[in-house]
Amino acid sequence: MAKRDVYEELKDLQAEMVKMISKFEQVQDEVTQTLEQNAELEIENQHLREVLRSDRNEGISGNNTEPPLSKSRKNLEKLYEEGFHVCNFEYGKRRENDEPCAFCLDVIYGER
Ligand SMILES: [Zn+2]
Repeated sequence: MAKRDVYEELKDLQAEMVKMISKFEQVQDEVTQTLEQNAELEIENQHLREVLRSDRNEGISGNNTEPPLSKSRKNLEKLYEEGFHVCNFEYGKRRENDEPCAFCLDVIYGER
């Protein structure tokens, strides 16, 4: 009889451990998700900061304090306006339907 009780106890214990492991995995998943979300938000935040910064710089350039584009950049700008990529990724390829390309714009107007 006592032996039977021990087996029952072991079984209960096992059931509890399985429950705990599944709970543990659930919490682990939540932590992973939160970390991923956090990383995404950080990237987005960084991106928004850059956009803000470049907007502010453009605001300053509105006061004519920024020097005009260099000759090579002007050439790139012309190419771009004619519908070609000037970025490293697609250089010389046609921009489909004149779609804007952030990489190209960065090459032409980005920080020097
Ligand atoms: Zn491009």
